[in-house]
Amino acid sequence: MQADYQLIIIGGGPAGLSAGLYAARGRIKTLLVEKGAPGGQVLLTDWVDNYPGFTEGVSGFELIEKMTAHVDRFGLEKKFAAVTRLDLPGPVKTVFLDNGEKLTCLSIILCTGARPRKLGVEGEEELTGQGVSYCATCDGPFYKGQEIAVVGGGNTAIQEALHLTKFADKVTVIHRRDELRATRILQEKAFANPRIDFLWNAQVRKIEGDANGVNNVQIAFKDGSAMDLAVTGIFILIGVAPNNEILPLEQLQVDDAGFIISNTEMETSIPGVYVAGDIRSKNFRQIVNAVGEGANAELSAEQFLAGRKHEAGPH
Ligand code: NAP
Repeated sequence: MQADYQLIIIGGGPAGLSAGLYAARGRIKTLLVEKGAPGGQVLLTDWVDNYPGFTEGVSGFELIEKMTAHVDRFGLEKKFAAVTRLDLPGPVKTVFLDNGEKLTCLSIILCTGARPRKLGVEGEEELTGQGVSYCATCDGPFYKGQEIAVVGGGNTAIQEALHLTKFADKVTVIHRRDELRATRILQEKAFANPRIDFLWNAQVRKIEGDANGVNNVQIAFKDGSAMDLAVTGIFILIGVAPNNEILPLEQLQVDDAGFIISNTEMETSIPGVYVAGDIRSKNFRQIVNAVGEGANAELSAEQFLAGRKHEAGPH
């Protein structure tokens, strides 16, 4: 069967880079396609403290720099272009790029990742970039000496609230329940930090501001009460949404939120099509998981290419 590549990996975050590393070492004719710079959501993270081997922690930027250097050492071919469309069901799969190119391959690993979820309240859209942010690493330094808010109670919200205390005088965490979802060590650090306050059982109703940016957040509590919180910035860190716009969702099995369903071998419902990282339907989104899934997906693809595994399909 003729195709430009044996394998195309879509997305250059930790999952895609890990798959690329295994493919390059397996001498599989592979292309990794990435629309921006490699890295994905890790680049939104200031500090990674739970990646094994980095005993003192590592910045998101440095971790990606090292992962990229690692695939480069084994000569992985990369192309920087946006995928506009995919044709997946047949034995030869086609990847359409925004530069007009059309590439064919025999197997594909989807590593398109996820992006921060939006709150969907009044003022959020209009004030994005003017006080409303989804990335503490990118925008934290703008809030030196100011009072800001963080929405959410997961790992991202608490880790980034801690990071934001390096700049802001006060960080108020607004959480819709009365306990955090974040891992214990982050909770302990946040509760011990004098610059972090909590508003429990609290939901943002409206974000207000003017030409100078955000100046107030309207908050409603479970018991029916309400308050205004005067802040100049609000970081919305409430989970992730799938980057699935370019995926043929009618051809793939996806969950209710639009994440791709696979089995433990990373096989999707289409033979020769694999998934890894945050775009995969699962409970836990960790860098180590993404990296493990990338390796697993590539090894499954290798078996498929060698004809040792015939059909794919999750459930
Ligand atoms: P998450 O774990 O899904 O937590 C989302 C948080 O936002 C939850 O506290 C949730 O409240 C809240 N929330 C969701 N929708 C909301 C809404 N409409 N209004 C108000 N609050 C809302 O998401 P995440 O913290 O972004 O993390 C994503 C994944 O990355 C997770 O698997 C996480 O473990 C991982 N991660 C890991 C690390 C780390 O290991 N250090 C760091 C960052 C991220 P409820 O609790 O009430 O549901």
